[in-house]
Amino acid sequence: PLPVLAVVGRPNVGKSTLVNRILGRREAVVEDTPGVTRDRVSYPAEWAGRRFTLVDTGGWEVDVAGIESKVAEQAEVAIELADAVVFVVDATVGATSTDERVVELLRRSGKPVVLCANKVDGPSGEADAAYLWALGLGEPHPVSALHGRGTGDLLDAAMAVL
Ligand code: GDP
Ligand code: MG
Repeated sequence: PLPVLAVVGRPNVGKSTLVNRILGRREAVVEDTPGVTRDRVSYPAEWAGRRFTLVDTGGWEVDVAGIESKVAEQAEVAIELADAVVFVVDATVGATSTDERVVELLRRSGKPVVLCANKVDGPSGEADAAYLWALGLGEPHPVSALHGRGTGDLLDAAMAVL
């Protein structure tokens, strides 16, 4: 079986946009419709001649009460099933308490993690990304999933640990 790379993070950070960017097509649902998207969706993917299974996560309602627990619950399952994880944070917002809960799960799992500082659409966002060193997950990779900026470096880093 192919190695599994899971894309994990709280809603709206750009996970599905990143998955589409990696796939090179619009297959993952951006701005998930509540109740329609499944918790995890797997896609065959390839980078630098290596094939792997890319897993998008999410699909739960953003506004429901207890969203923080729901995110943590779903992240835990996805992390468990993955060989390596891309943890996506919105660099324009910084790390929220929901992000911190997922970080704790990632630490406990011992799985290799590549930190994606997303929504760095231009050079001025690099400083926002640098703050994410504080999460203790290693180097934050500044990325704009929307425009494709930095995704090659992110994937190179992911392939190195997958
Ligand atoms: P998900 O819930 O984590 O899967 O997030 P989505 O991929 O559905 O994206 C949520 C919103 O963030 C959408 O409006 C995207 O267009 C936007 N978005 C995603 N990536 C970027 C990015 O790199 N830059 C900017 N400016 N917006 C982004
Ligand atoms: Mg999504």
